[in-house]
Amino acid sequence: MTSQPQPDSAAAAPPPAWQRFASRVAIKESSLRTRMLDIAAGLKDVIALGRGDPDLDTPAHIIEAGQKALGKGATHYTHPLGMPELRRAIADSIKANGGGDYTPDEIVVTAGAQESMFVAMLALVEPGDEVIIPSPGYNSYHQAVELAGGRCVTVPTHERDGFALTAEAVARHLTPRSRMLCLINPSNPTGMVIPPSEIEKLAALAAKHDLIVISDEIYGRLVYDNARVLPVASLPGMKERTITIDGFSKAYAMTGWRVGYFAAPRHFSKAMAEIHHGLAICAPAVSQHAALAALTGPQDCVEAMRREYDSRRKVMMAALDRMGLSYARPDGAFYVYANVSSTGASASDFCLRLLQEGKVMMFPGSLFGDHCDDYVRISLLQPVPKVEEAARRMEAVVKAMKAETLAAGPASGS
Ligand code: PLP
Repeated sequence: MTSQPQPDSAAAAPPPAWQRFASRVAIKESSLRTRMLDIAAGLKDVIALGRGDPDLDTPAHIIEAGQKALGKGATHYTHPLGMPELRRAIADSIKANGGGDYTPDEIVVTAGAQESMFVAMLALVEPGDEVIIPSPGYNSYHQAVELAGGRCVTVPTHERDGFALTAEAVARHLTPRSRMLCLINPSNPTGMVIPPSEIEKLAALAAKHDLIVISDEIYGRLVYDNARVLPVASLPGMKERTITIDGFSKAYAMTGWRVGYFAAPRHFSKAMAEIHHGLAICAPAVSQHAALAALTGPQDCVEAMRREYDSRRKVMMAALDRMGLSYARPDGAFYVYANVSSTGASASDFCLRLLQEGKVMMFPGSLFGDHCDDYVRISLLQPVPKVEEAARRMEAVVKAMKAETLAAGPASGS
């Protein structure tokens, strides 16, 4: 046997499987978020204004419906698209809210709106397609697009314009590879509501450039100061190119039930339903019964929660005014996106110091695909007295940081 020259195994060996997986999708696991959660776990009396999980309980009649359904055997798979009576109720609710006409087979119930988002990208984005996403914006969109092999094209929005996403700004980011436009309306993290007149312009742009539109309206019922969410699918000619994503987590305080849905014309929903079946088979049966109760039961619970978030929003805005921190007045959702650059620190450093010294947790905008590190997202998911206390603690830290920056002179804080 002649001996063959051995290849230089160190140079030629492919990277190990785990490394290939890690680079397949840019999993922007935020070490800062993990660090903050670790620090918070070691502290007492932290006021958490970080996550987007309502502190309010699911209304009692919805819980009761879930309990009853379990007692009656809702422990099996349902129809993959969701229980027919729930899909009918969703179609009715979309119509009642001005979202247009859908048949139940154009509605697919998913395990949270989150699943709808991933289903949409996996079904509709082809490798190399460009997907337009506002920045800052809900970060899971980036992950979903990248998993599908697409490319995220972020459109920066600015405090000076109320973080409004405009058709003009989107137009500047279009290329021949542009395939999809994502609207998050109202926005997480800024609370911005796209004005109806701008939705019309964005719709016209999407039609002109043959873009599919994803309209995430999960915060659509939590709006303030007479703001109005215009469902893009309701505009003439738009239903055929739009997927509307919505759910029960925010308006009905049902995050843990994991139930949401998308509404899309048959040419989209058929393929998307297959992927949904592959991912989840169906949304949890018990949660579908609870969601049915949410839609068909009294709606005053939604209004009560909306008012509560509005009170908290006003408390926090007044506190930020006192602190001299700017923000764009949020018209929807339950967040305030505040500019902390006047403290002389980056938002990431500010959040760490606020947690360590003030025992208040909020997340820096860099976790939301922001293009700068000047902003913090404040979740208004604590009762008013806690929001007031958090604001007092924040004010003390802001004061100290501003004084230090002043004392250090003009070169500091750059
Ligand atoms: N869409 C947006 C804009 C969100 O902010 C969230 C959650 O924070 C989701 C979707 C996911 O919602 P769900 O709990 O229904 O999966």
